[in-house]
Amino acid sequence: MEQNQHDDAPVAAAAPTVGDVLLAIGELWPESLAEGWDAVGLVAGRAENRAAKILFTVDPSAAVLDEALAWGASMIVSHHPLLLKPVSSVAASGFKGDVVHRLIEAGCALVTVHTNGDSAVGGVSDVLADALGLRDVEPLAPAAGGLPEEGIGRVGDLGAPVTLGAFAEAVFSLLPAVAGGVRVAGNSDALVRRVAVCGGAGDSLFDRVRASRADVYVTADLRHHPAFEVREAAAGGPPYLIDVSHFGSEWLWLTPAADALGDVLGARGFTTDIRVSSVNTDPWDFVLTPGP
Ligand SMILES: [Zn+2]
Repeated sequence: MEQNQHDDAPVAAAAPTVGDVLLAIGELWPESLAEGWDAVGLVAGRAENRAAKILFTVDPSAAVLDEALAWGASMIVSHHPLLLKPVSSVAASGFKGDVVHRLIEAGCALVTVHTNGDSAVGGVSDVLADALGLRDVEPLAPAAGGLPEEGIGRVGDLGAPVTLGAFAEAVFSLLPAVAGGVRVAGNSDALVRRVAVCGGAGDSLFDRVRASRADVYVTADLRHHPAFEVREAAAGGPPYLIDVSHFGSEWLWLTPAADALGDVLGARGFTTDIRVSSVNTDPWDFVLTPGP
């Protein structure tokens, strides 16, 4: 999107610095909301450099970097950290080191907005809850020391009960096309109204889901044992499970997040060109199923 274009002002003069963008990011998705194990904030880049073109992505993959640098991006905002675990080398012979080298050589900054983007109002799970039309939404796990509406995951109610099958179709239609599709546990004719969601891997929140009395839980990366145990304990009843692409569940957030950042920077008089990456970073390419 273009923000506050003025014909008489050169774009570069009105572009924010990386530091200006970091201030806006801190306002929208405060680092204080990030989980203790997380690594958010600036990964590469100089605060004083200009950031006229900003690209949002779920993952800082090589293909995303190709796209960003071909466009002339001066900053990438990635949901997932490039360097979550400590490293002792950023040699370009490794794929992460290669990304770091390409960023620095091109003068492109990289910033991570991860669990701070999950927890914040307007964050990943909020966007998912909004897209599904949930009402009276609250966090599944409120943030320690945060506002009551901040925290991981969300739970809320549909306007009217629908079948699990129809609800799963609605979830499927919202998300980008990925090879793995959408997996559902539960009878497709069962009615659901109360819905819990967690963008990304959410199987650590099952106790919260049960406590919330959700009929169905939408999240990603559900592993066999946690999912099996939830379904056995439920004896065929709720909570039903909808397992979606990790990438897809977080991709929904990119456009509203890009819009929000553009709004904050625009309100401060900065001109920016902010885009969402067109690269699908879901790692799966095809799936085999037994058929109907
Ligand atoms: Zn994630």
